[in-house]
Amino acid sequence: MAKSSCNTFQKNILSWFDEHGRKQLPWQLDTNPYRVWVSEIMLQQTQVNTVIPYFQRFMQSFPDVVSLADAASDDVLHHWSGLGYYARARNLHQCAKIITQQYQGKFPNDIDTLMSLPGIGRSTAGAILSLGFHQAAVILDGNVKRVLARCFAVPGWPGTTTTLKKLWQIAEDFTPDTASPAYTQAMMDLGSMVCTRSKPNCQQCPVQSMCIAYQQQTIDQFPGKKPKKVLPVKQTIFLIFQNEQQHILLEQRPATGLWGGLWCFPQCENETMIDDIAQQHYQLKIKSSTVLDSFRHTFSHYHLDITPIVINTDPCHPYSVHENQQRQWINPDKLIKLGLAKPVTALIQKVAS
Ligand code: SF4
Repeated sequence: MAKSSCNTFQKNILSWFDEHGRKQLPWQLDTNPYRVWVSEIMLQQTQVNTVIPYFQRFMQSFPDVVSLADAASDDVLHHWSGLGYYARARNLHQCAKIITQQYQGKFPNDIDTLMSLPGIGRSTAGAILSLGFHQAAVILDGNVKRVLARCFAVPGWPGTTTTLKKLWQIAEDFTPDTASPAYTQAMMDLGSMVCTRSKPNCQQCPVQSMCIAYQQQTIDQFPGKKPKKVLPVKQTIFLIFQNEQQHILLEQRPATGLWGGLWCFPQCENETMIDDIAQQHYQLKIKSSTVLDSFRHTFSHYHLDITPIVINTDPCHPYSVHENQQRQWINPDKLIKLGLAKPVTALIQKVAS
């Protein structure tokens, strides 16, 4: 890549950032590697405005890596409830424990060690080094991929090795050789504020004069689309057992897998099973039940069609549900300090209202 093109690209990006870039985001104030890391993990697959309140609550409860490492996993998942992609929270917690135990609570400051930690990929490691340690480092998150794919007309879906390799090469060529947190932030901001997915504001873009996709009017071809696959559809029934006090029965899911470690309603696949499950598994007698509207929750690899059924129960004397660490009656009117999947939170609110 000609040196003069790189210089012009960097200069244009940096002067745009001076005037329009974001400099007051919560993780940009009192910045340190820990805050950068948490924000970067939250920002994966999630918009800035959604992340801000989650980040603030998280920092209030876990202001540093040691407090996060010491936290109960339920508490960490509770702070993540609603953000989705819960493996991020589990990795974050696991990573905090490793940093506390193996690195005396200090973030490693080299790319290889950072990338060996759970949940930290090459771009996140680059962002921690650039924004947290003020080192020269390259990033290539979803926003930056979009800007570079359009500007340099890089064909193909960035999920393929060939396209990704080309994008990393361009990202490396165009990142300043000396530390430049402003450039890193500017590239993220340009992707999320100007070169947006569906309606890029090319008239305000600082690199419009260099942008091949803009000049050729082929913006909608870049980045290349992910090949479409038809997601399978699965069905489940959420059993919302209520006792005489209107408390709701929740169970904690296994630590790994779907909604790992989160609290959820008991489930079954077929309405004909409900009586047996209530009596034999939970020692509950069904007084009445109401079927609520079904809805769809989509995961990355399948759709889940959920039918919630509110079931009023009595204990079958002399037995009743045995509460334990993975099974509890909860009062929906009280603040629930458990990690809950988004549809579970919504249903608890609906049932309680
Ligand atoms: Fe994106 Fe338009 Fe700028 Fe090209 S000119 S980088 S398409 S905003």
